[in-house]
Parts: sequence; C-alpha cells; structure tokens
Amino acid sequence: EFMVASGLGRQPAGVTNWPDYIKSKMYQPGVTPALVVEKHHVVTRELYILRQTYTPIQRYLFLRHLLDSQPDIFWNLMINNAEELLPDVYTPTVGDVCLNYCSLPIKTRGLYIKEQNSGRILEKLENWRHQDIRVVVVTDGERILGLGDLGAGGMGISEGKIILYTVFGGLNPEHCIPICIDVGTNKESFLQDPQYYGVRHKRLRGEKYDALIHELVHALKKWRPHVLLQFEDFGNTNAFRLLDKYRNEVCCFNDDIQATACISLAGILNSLRITGKKLEEQRILVFGAGEAGTGIGKIVALAVVQQCGLTQEEALKFCYLVDSHGLVCKSRSQLAPHKLPFAHDIVHQPDLLSSVRSVRPTVLIGASAVAGAFSKEVLEVMQECNERPVIFPLSNPTSMSECTFEDAYKYTGGTAVFASGSPFPSYVTLEGKTLYPSQVNNAYISIHILRPFILSDILSLNSYRIISAEDWYRMAAVLTKCKMISDELFLTTAELIAGAVSEARLESGMLVPTFSDMKEVAPHLIAGICEFIVKTGQGTKPPDVMDWLDYVKEQMYKPPDNDVPAFPSP
Ligand code: NAP
Ligand code: MN
Repeated sequence: EFMVASGLGRQPAGVTNWPDYIKSKMYQPGVTPALVVEKHHVVTRELYILRQTYTPIQRYLFLRHLLDSQPDIFWNLMINNAEELLPDVYTPTVGDVCLNYCSLPIKTRGLYIKEQNSGRILEKLENWRHQDIRVVVVTDGERILGLGDLGAGGMGISEGKIILYTVFGGLNPEHCIPICIDVGTNKESFLQDPQYYGVRHKRLRGEKYDALIHELVHALKKWRPHVLLQFEDFGNTNAFRLLDKYRNEVCCFNDDIQATACISLAGILNSLRITGKKLEEQRILVFGAGEAGTGIGKIVALAVVQQCGLTQEEALKFCYLVDSHGLVCKSRSQLAPHKLPFAHDIVHQPDLLSSVRSVRPTVLIGASAVAGAFSKEVLEVMQECNERPVIFPLSNPTSMSECTFEDAYKYTGGTAVFASGSPFPSYVTLEGKTLYPSQVNNAYISIHILRPFILSDILSLNSYRIISAEDWYRMAAVLTKCKMISDELFLTTAELIAGAVSEARLESGMLVPTFSDMKEVAPHLIAGICEFIVKTGQGTKPPDVMDWLDYVKEQMYKPPDNDVPAFPSP
C-alpha cells in the first residue's frame, strides 16, 4: 500500500484487498504438480540412496525412517533385498543400535513395560495401536547379543526380530508387538548418561521382578489367548526359570536357548554331510555353558537318542561344556542347574585350550561372547584331531565372534567346516578360490516355529464359530496341546532345515540356507512343520487346507501394491 500510494509501484489488476491477495500468493506445499512414480522405481531409488550412505548406523536410521514414513516401500525393499539389507536391521548393526538406542533419533515402535505400570498392563495392551496381535517378542534387555545389559536399549532387538519375521516368515507386521520390560540396568555408564531414558536404577530382582513378568504373561493371555510369546535376550538367571515356569502355561519359547539349539543342530547335521561322518562318532565341545551352550547340548542329546537309539544319559555324554571356570565336570561344586546334565565324570581342565586337548572334539562351538577365544593354538589342535574340524563361533555381534572366518580357514590349513552367528565377508584363498561362510543364527528358526502355530491358531479360532457347545471341551483340549512348543518340534525343524540345503550349496560351504534362499525355502519349511504338528496331534488341519504348501504361500505377508505414491517432481 505504501509503495503504491507513494508512486514507487503500481497496483496489479484484481487486487481489491492486499492481505487476501498476498495470502493467495503464499507458497503452499502440496500444490506443485505431482509426478507419479511407479512403486518399483521408488524401491530402486531408495536402494540407490541407501548405497550412498557411509555408516551402518546411517543405513539403519535411513531404513527405519522409511519404515515409519512409507512402510510398503520399506517392506518391498527388505523382502526383495534381504541378503544385502538384513545386516543393517539385524546383527551386526542392531548391536550398535541397542548400545546407542536412547541417543539415536528413533521413535520406538514397541511397548515399554515398567514397574510403575503394575496393575495396568492389560489396559496398556488394550490401548495398543494394533489389536490383532499373534506374536510378542519380549526382552528385559539384560543380555543383548553378546553385549550384556543394555537396559531400555534392548527394545532394538525385539524390533529387529519382528522385521525378520515379516521378511522371512511372511508375518504381517501388524500382528506383532515388540516389548521391552524396563526394570532398570546395571550398566553404570547408562545410569550416568543424561540421554538414557530408561528407568534409572539398578535392575529389579526377586519377587517384584517375578510379579511384573507374571502380570505381563497373564495380561497377554487374557488379551490374546492364542498369542505366541518369544522370550528374547534375558540374562540366564531369569531365562531358564521363566521358560520352565511358563512353557506349559502359554505358547512360548526362548529364542536363545531353544531356537539357537535348533539351528546349531541343523548346522551340525549338515557338517556331517560334508565330513562323511556319523552323528554317533561326534564329540561336541561348546565354549560357553549358558543359554545357547546348554540348549545346544540338550538338542544334540535328543537327536542322538532319536537317531542313534541311545539313552538320554548316554546321549548327554556327546556334549562337553566349558564355562568361565573351565571344563564342566562332576568334580566341580556349585554348578548352576542348567549345567548339571553335562557334568560328566572327567578330569577338570582350567581353560578352553586344555579342554580341547583333553576332549579332542570333532565339533567346536562358541557361545561365550568372548571375542577371539578360538585362538591359533585352539584351532591348530582342532586340525590335529580331525581331517575336517567343524568350527562354529556363534557369538554375536561380529565383534564378539570367537574367531573370524579367515582365521578358522588359515589355522586349520583350510580344512575347517565353518559357520558363524554373525555374517563374515567371503574369503579368497591364496589359490584364488572364493569361500563363503555359513551363518548359523537363530533368526532362521523362530519364523518357522512361529508361523505354523499362528496358522493352526487361525484354524482354532475359525473352528470355534462352527462347532457346537459340547465340542468346546474337546476343542479346548486340542488348543491346550497347541499351546506347548515341544522339544521334538525343534528337532524336526532342525532336520527339515538341514534337508533344505542342496548338495551344490553344501559344496560351496553353506550349511544352512542363505538369507537369499529363505524366500523360496521358508514356505516349504513352514508347511513341513505344520504337517508335523498335525501328525503328532498338537494341532489340527484347517478344513480348507488341501495342500499345506499352497495354504502357507497364500498366507505369506505381501506388502500392498495398489497405492502408488505420488512424489513432487524435482
Ligand atoms: P549366557 O547365558 O550369558 O552364557 C554365556 C556363557 O559364556 C556362560 O556359560 C559363561 O560362563 C561363558 N563365558 C563368559 N565369559 C567366559 C570366559 N571368559 N571364558 C569361558 N566362558 C565364558 O549367554 P548366551 O545366551 O548363551 O549367549 C552367549 C553368546 O552366544 C552371545 O554372544 C550371543 O550373542 C550368542 N548367541 C548366538 C546365537 C545365534 O543364533 N548365533 C543365539 C543365541 C546366542 P559362566 O557360566 O561361568 O558365567
Ligand atoms: Mn537372542
């Protein structure tokens, strides 16, 4: 107005009211012409951008942001590029993420349960953004990978597992809920860190801890009677106890004890296809006598009982454990209950090297989170005792591995049959041959266990609608059976996984299916387990299942493809 009035400018035609005219000229986002980009081009573009990032954490943050902002693109990207991208959302990167969880710019996707929520956990669940929940992954953050107590940062591991289940197991992410029970942390640096937003005191123990877990388990059962509960990365003072307490009460399993055992057995069974030896000729030494170590010992014993016809007592003698006090044996007093089945009548050895020398194992497994424990000397003794020593450093993340792929190769004169928990790069030998390491990780197992149970639960719920009232008790019996995940189920899963690896894959050193094989292999494994569940009377076949494989394939989660997003033109 001033400019026009003082002759410095002229009033444009059509201006009757300056403020209205100015408002109409203000930039408004969203009104620029939009270019419709087809979904597969968007996915390619995101992958392209991702490949320009510098650090694993940046890649993780980029992917999480994509998950929040464009979930369909995220799932398409992950499902079609699993081999390349899983290390960014799972081990090894997830370890760093959990360590820094509270200071990273991430909005949690999961639910925190704290002592202050006591009495109101059910209410919290009933207010969760999705209600059709079938799978719960719960941690209390006490033993995250091999990194120890990460308190509230443990949420990252529950979230990571659920991504895996969607990518491999075809589980709809809206059917899953990651939970972290935040009962404090004993990690002093977290308690001093102003960024740490978890409960700021030492870990809750004893009755109060048990009461909180009990309330959660029962609230879950009440909220979703068919829910499948996965215990993840608990410290071993609680892990064994909670599994024993709840395994007959709710459909639950412990990933670190049972699923690790299962995938390790699959790896051992396939190592025999390479070495040409029999299961009854094996001596298995596990370095680490915690959740993973004793779980492996137990499943190997079960396999020996079933496949070799020996007694449980004889079968347990196939496995030797070493813990922080050396070889587990009968003469040691005050052994924790989970180690007792492996306390054989043998001479005590103070450390791993002396134990390997005295036991002369055919298979050496690491589940200790002691980086580099499979030293040159240890690996050399393994080679002296075996034509083809089997070496599985299973500790996660990569930084905690008992040895590298390269070391295992070098110090056994290239004879090792190798698998690790976290991924290792391939290795080119002096002769120019490229060797690929196998990854024996429990991530492979949980999805195959979860899916069949969920599928048979769908059956049970549908059946409720069609059966008459007097059938309820019978049905309830079927359901109750369904509520228990038996050790035999893990054994069968291990055998199915081992059988899914082709001779050609074995020849290149792969003991279990690779991440990229999983898309193809998973429906077959899930169908096989469904059949086993039905055959053993642990569940029934839904009436519309003609062929399990077809049914499973039909149930796999596919990210919606219809809404093609529009992006502003550059
Ligand atoms: P855990 O229950 O805490 O057991 C750890 C075991 O290692 C304990 O028996 C401990 O001995 C032993 N240990 C620790 N330091 C030792 C040392 N310096 N010398 C000898 N033994 C030592 O843990 P976990 O659940 O079994 O997990 C252990 C590792 O396995 C972790 O790194 C985890 O990431 C990895 N893991 C891998 C997979 C997979 O799928 N690849 C799955 C689960 C776990 P004491 O009993 O004497 O304390
Ligand atoms: Mn775990």
